[in-house]
Amino acid sequence: MALPSTIIACSKEEARGKHEADRSNPYWRAYSDGSGRDEDVTAASVGANWSIGKRLGGAGVALTHHGELEGLTRAAEKLAKHCEESTDQKGRVHKVYSDSQASIKVVREMRSTTDQARLRRVQAACEVMRRRGARLELHWVPGHEGIRGNEAADMTANKAHEQLLPVAEGMTCELTARKALIQEKARKEWQRRWSRDRGGAEFRKLAPVVTHRYMRLHSGRLKPHSSLLVQLRTGKIGFNQFLCERRVPGVTTGTCACGQGRMTVRHVLLACPTWREERTRMQQEANTTNLRRLLGDV
Ligand SMILES: [Zn+2]
Repeated sequence: MALPSTIIACSKEEARGKHEADRSNPYWRAYSDGSGRDEDVTAASVGANWSIGKRLGGAGVALTHHGELEGLTRAAEKLAKHCEESTDQKGRVHKVYSDSQASIKVVREMRSTTDQARLRRVQAACEVMRRRGARLELHWVPGHEGIRGNEAADMTANKAHEQLLPVAEGMTCELTARKALIQEKARKEWQRRWSRDRGGAEFRKLAPVVTHRYMRLHSGRLKPHSSLLVQLRTGKIGFNQFLCERRVPGVTTGTCACGQGRMTVRHVLLACPTWREERTRMQQEANTTNLRRLLGDV
């Protein structure tokens, strides 16, 4: 199976220099771009005498990187079509310039599980060129640096938003976009309940707004660890001070067994001599002595 070569220069300057030095026929060259704006994703491919702008759809359908990869894919397909229609293609190199390193890397690694359909289309375009004795190269160029083809692709992608082109045919929902939408909806619902709920005043101080950071704080943790973390962060934990405040039978004092203060989260984690060794280790691992940081606030 034919695959394109992928060329990503080490720096913007090098990429720009290589592009400037490209003396190949402009008809064998294309520029691609993708754009995401107000939850609307577009793709663009531009050649010497043609340009394609497509809308992929909005929230839950596509993300910007799908637009980038779609633009690149269409550019490759268009060049392959030219290749098929013209004579004497032997040794000819067709180039797609994209400002998205991520898209070029996806093609290079050919193993994205979510973009298989586009990767197959790029491979098919390559195969057409290979049969004619030509080949495909994907080059990275820095965006917004005054490179004309790149600017034209950028403009085409932007226009596709403004002209509100119909969503391109054959566009399916992207799984990652759908997941992002679901996550966002879940977050909003969480936030709604969080703000409405009257309980948890202590914890609310720590986390007034529901963010992905708090989801990350708990994701992958075992439930007992997660609840312990919440207990430590809220202070509602089986330490003397809290138990005493709550008049738990048998707890007559908030003082710690060490006798050096009230047994609070702060005392246990930062001061109590009983836990000195554990504390040293914990602070080294976490590289901080700040209580909020130790408990996951960054
Ligand atoms: Zn103590």
